Amino acid sequence: MDYFPAFLDLRGRTALVVGGGPVAARKVHLLLDAGARVRVVAPSLVTELRALVSDAAIEHIDGRFEPDHLREASLAIAATSHYTVNAEVAAAARARNVPVNVVDDAQLSSFIVPAIVDRSPVIVAIGTGGQSPVLARWVRARIEALLHPRLGRLGDLAGRWRRRVKAAFSGVARRRRCWETALEGRAAQYALEGRDDLADLELRRELKRAAAQGPARAGCVVLVGAGPGDPDLLTLRAARELQLADVILHDRLVAPEILARARRDAERIFVGKESGRHHVAQEDTNELMIRLALEGKRVVRLKGGDPFVFGRGGEELEALARHGIAFSVVPGITAALGAAAAAGIPLTHRDHAHAVTFVTGHAREAGDVADDLAWAALAREQHTAVFYMGVANLGAIVAQLAAHGAPPTRPIALIENATLPAQRVIEGTLANIVERALAERVASPTLLVVGDVVKVRAALVPPQAENPEQAREPIARLSSRVTEARSA
Ligand code: SAH
Repeated sequence: MDYFPAFLDLRGRTALVVGGGPVAARKVHLLLDAGARVRVVAPSLVTELRALVSDAAIEHIDGRFEPDHLREASLAIAATSHYTVNAEVAAAARARNVPVNVVDDAQLSSFIVPAIVDRSPVIVAIGTGGQSPVLARWVRARIEALLHPRLGRLGDLAGRWRRRVKAAFSGVARRRRCWETALEGRAAQYALEGRDDLADLELRRELKRAAAQGPARAGCVVLVGAGPGDPDLLTLRAARELQLADVILHDRLVAPEILARARRDAERIFVGKESGRHHVAQEDTNELMIRLALEGKRVVRLKGGDPFVFGRGGEELEALARHGIAFSVVPGITAALGAAAAAGIPLTHRDHAHAVTFVTGHAREAGDVADDLAWAALAREQHTAVFYMGVANLGAIVAQLAAHGAPPTRPIALIENATLPAQRVIEGTLANIVERALAERVASPTLLVVGDVVKVRAALVPPQAENPEQAREPIARLSSRVTEARSA
């Protein structure tokens, strides 16, 4: 971060504004809104500032800036159109350790005034490090649309009840849970509607209910699928659970960009299974989850892809159920689906595959694969086989498929780091893929997709938009069909 975000309490404090034009006037209004005592230095003032002076709402020093005007100032803003004056204000303020902003000049400023969404007491401040006010306004517009227009009333409600809720619960976790319930419940709805008496009544009930549940309220575990890697492929529910979690147990496949979406003060614990490096046994993970839940924590067990597809989700839930721990499951986009979309390989296709099988290529011994897989079915035509955890055993997988009747020309694609910026797709056939994989040093995580659907990929690479000549089917023919379809 180039800047430290903070909110200043300026009530009753002196704030100096140098400049008397419309830009200065905007800053003056903002400062007055924040309760500051505003001193304006300028040889002339726009009408609206003159009006404020005659109402005695602001102090006016008629003339040119002098360092002494900074006396008792907690903050200074230079908003003149003269660079030298602005620079003088900046230098004098810095010399006295008074935070200073020069409008539209991050270089001279010691702080930046953000774009704001004001739902007081809730205030959202948006900064771009002075790089792009337009971008800041764009972000502001999106946040404006996202937040209820009367969101501030929730802040007021929380303010009224803060002390009482704190007194009712000694533990931070229970207090937070009480607020979370309240903010999603009827109390919040009433507050947003401006019916404070009803909101208060509802919150009083909520407190009673929560208190009656006793201090030993158990936590729970939510098994969450994090998707194949791209954070955009998280489900909305997964994103929400990440915001509610007290603790997150994650493994190797979960990208840092996804963990970054979790609540800031949620504890993060790595429980990855990776040969060699830091290794956590499954039993230890189960025990840890159970212990944390018994402490009353909301535990998110975050897994790559979907928790029920080669994710040991079932085993973990069995352990939780044996200990009477409450749990739920949030599905995720499994690697096969993410990889297929990102590489342009439809997993089924009316011409090439009627079925798709997700299968593990993992073996107890490296270089080997299970004999008891239904190899004959996997090798069949019109069938797509997707192997998870298969790169280390690629040779053995290819050999088994060939031994069970798959022709050497059967297409196969290796998709490494699917949906991530480092994604690579290596195409080949059963005859040459082992050699290619070696040459390209393909590594985990990689999926193997075997079947004629891989051929479709070439046709799915979109022609360059700027060169429509490349289109394989003339648009004219297409549009006549569309017209027919529309009139039908
Ligand atoms: N539960 C996960 C799978 C875990 S098994 C899911 O539903 O996706 C781990 C295997 O998944 C890896 O060995 C690899 O084969 C595959 N995998 C997971 N993420 C991947 C990615 N981004 N790209 C390619 N393969 C991936």
